[in-house]
Amino acid sequence: MMKIIVTGGAGFIGSAVVRYIIEQTDDEVLVIDKLTYAGNLESLDQVSKSNRFHFKQIDICDRNSLAKAINEFQPNIIMHLAAESHVDRSIDNPSTFIETNVIGTFSLLQESLVYWKKLDSDKQKCFRFHHISTDEVYGDLHGTDDLFTETTPYSPSSPYSASKASSDHLVRAWHRTFNLPTVITNCSNNYGPYHFPEKIIPLMILNALEGKPLPVYGNGQQIRDWLYVEDHAKALYLVATKAKVGETYNIGGHNEQKNIDVVNIICKLLEEFVPNKPDGVKYYKDLITYVTDRPGHDQRYAIDASKIYLDLGWKPQETFETGMRKTVMWYIQNKQWCEHIKDGSYARSRQGIIN
Ligand code: NAD
Repeated sequence: MMKIIVTGGAGFIGSAVVRYIIEQTDDEVLVIDKLTYAGNLESLDQVSKSNRFHFKQIDICDRNSLAKAINEFQPNIIMHLAAESHVDRSIDNPSTFIETNVIGTFSLLQESLVYWKKLDSDKQKCFRFHHISTDEVYGDLHGTDDLFTETTPYSPSSPYSASKASSDHLVRAWHRTFNLPTVITNCSNNYGPYHFPEKIIPLMILNALEGKPLPVYGNGQQIRDWLYVEDHAKALYLVATKAKVGETYNIGGHNEQKNIDVVNIICKLLEEFVPNKPDGVKYYKDLITYVTDRPGHDQRYAIDASKIYLDLGWKPQETFETGMRKTVMWYIQNKQWCEHIKDGSYARSRQGIIN
């Protein structure tokens, strides 16, 4: 049995990791999360009653609170997912991205190092600091067949991806300089249940169900490689528990899609699942509206995920078809989770579960 700290465990991917650990393993979890607008304790409802689940509301920039939590919990693994994660917000307000993604990662590295140095040598050898990052650090792919590998040079385009690139560099430096046992993963776009409705897939599903416009950036030809979030959670657990110190793994869905095609798939699934449409809507796809493109918008991301398959035997279980069916159905069946975000009550529900 292991003791695992998950930072950002109330977010989209973090909560999937926590649900996976509590439901599929005997490990104990401490979630450390500031509960920004993106943190939602309702995403942890199904595991929060477990006596192996613990939560502390902490900003990762707050080193004293971090040190106290780490020392009290005595983790074998720290999985670091806490971040500001939305590219559009990073263009409007880059400073919180620098604070959390750069300064916050630095703070967590420092406090992890202080803790790690005090462990006995067996525990030091087994300890892992797993930094969860994004394929956006590699920038834009221009050729249609190019893929990001673990050795692709970094070339971030947005304040978000630049801040994540900075945090990856810090993690490598703390390994190289101080021997902190780190591993890094860089993943492609995730989709699935509990995704905050500012991101393209939940936004389109929820707007369509309300008969609102479906805003597609530019010409909608931007290509992303989509991975079902529960496949990502399994990959992350595997890397955190099995990967060799110092390794980096790219994680992807082998599933490149143009943004406009993703929106069309959502419309098609909604025609099947919810044929009774809002007043005035003949077909969901009629709601598609092209809007001014995001500045600096990367055209194509695509991952070569062969290394994690060869080393650790991981490959995604869901196809885009099965994953999208599950995702669209989840948003139809979990209106309350979405309603609570819309009316702000998800923030009020923070009282009660925190222990
Ligand atoms: P998210 O925005 O849904 O969740 C982020 C979580 O971090 C929230 O619970 C938030 O409250 C918490 N947080 C933010 N600032 C904090 C701070 N200062 N201190 C403590 N907690 C804080 O993000 P996500 O989509 O779940 O992404 C998780 C990680 O995975 C991020 O590091 C992101 O860069 C990376 N990633 C995301 C994707 C994707 O498609 N969503 C793809 C690849 C990598």
